[in-house]
Amino acid sequence: MIYLDNNATTPVDQRVREAMIPFLGEKFGNPSSAHAAGRAARAALEQARGQVASLLGASDESVVFTSGGTESINTAIRGALAAQPGKRHLVTSAVEHSATRNLCAQLEREGCEVTWLPVDAGGCIDLDAYRRSLRSDTALVTLVWANNETGVIFPIADMARMADERHIVFHTDAVQAAGKVPVDLSAVPAHLLSISAHKFHGPKGTGALFVRAGMGLPSILSGGAQENGRRAGTENVPGIVGLAAAAELAQAAMASEMPRVADLRDYFEAGLRERFPTVLFHGDPTHRLPNTSNFALPGMAAADLLAGLERLGVACSVGSACASGSPHASHVLRAMGISDGEAESSLRFSFSRTNTREEVAAALEALAAAAGRLGMGG
Ligand code: PLP
Repeated sequence: MIYLDNNATTPVDQRVREAMIPFLGEKFGNPSSAHAAGRAARAALEQARGQVASLLGASDESVVFTSGGTESINTAIRGALAAQPGKRHLVTSAVEHSATRNLCAQLEREGCEVTWLPVDAGGCIDLDAYRRSLRSDTALVTLVWANNETGVIFPIADMARMADERHIVFHTDAVQAAGKVPVDLSAVPAHLLSISAHKFHGPKGTGALFVRAGMGLPSILSGGAQENGRRAGTENVPGIVGLAAAAELAQAAMASEMPRVADLRDYFEAGLRERFPTVLFHGDPTHRLPNTSNFALPGMAAADLLAGLERLGVACSVGSACASGSPHASHVLRAMGISDGEAESSLRFSFSRTNTREEVAAALEALAAAAGRLGMGG
């Protein structure tokens, strides 16, 4: 299989797997236990905290381990609201991942007021509209750093600064950004930030929430006092060790590998233009992740193309993996003013450091063959 769906999830790096194995075997201790087995697990946990902090340019104490992006996002948003009972206004965007989108919709039903910032045709937010949305009763801004469907990157440093100047808590969903573009919290005044290991060659079901020093954030789970009272429940030590190994590898590889991944993406898009002159690319090309290509082949049903590609051994996705199978066109593409028809002709290819030029060339051939079988040029 040629796997080009890396925004859905990434293959676990062999070195990550090897780092985890002892913690599924002889190093099985509970980090809260006082004996030697527990102390060994605690030491691994604290070393992992340092490695994750280093990826984010953060202090060790600011890293809270969670079960992944969704839990981090829920903890950040619910926690920020609980910590500021007088404030019931939230600012988010129309193109968030369902973890944020569905929680904010739920909070609206619970009586909060939510400002859903629109995006332009390129998927970008108008900074003046953003500034105007910030109010004295705003409890939290929550915005995705890099979009999972289009790869469009928001100017998170500027947006966090504007919120911080007004003493408004700023959370960013950096699940797709971390490991692909620099995420340096020493230069970005965000208060909360979410990441997930399986998006950068780590294991599924493990992630982290960055909580800026001095911020009191209640645990949304009731239970033990793990993670300094910020996340109840025995820590997933093997997963956390895997997250940390993946973070270290991503950080070390970023400068050399991400330009190569961007070259693969550009080679793919040039090949598409050659084979399908009517191709339409989605998302501002100047503010995009290096690995993501989202495009429409007008007149083609993406679901049929996907099935054809699958038969030829190529895995990609329509819109976002979380939305596929849903009868509705992607809310992200809709928010960018893309018609339902065009959205239904749209595919997402997302690359990673495991991909090669040969795979991309073969995927282009497969796409041309799948389109040809459906009676379209290419
Ligand atoms: N946020 C974004 C932008 C994502 O792409 C995803 C995963 O698809 C998530 C959040 C959810 O992360 P997890 O799968 O770790 O719950």
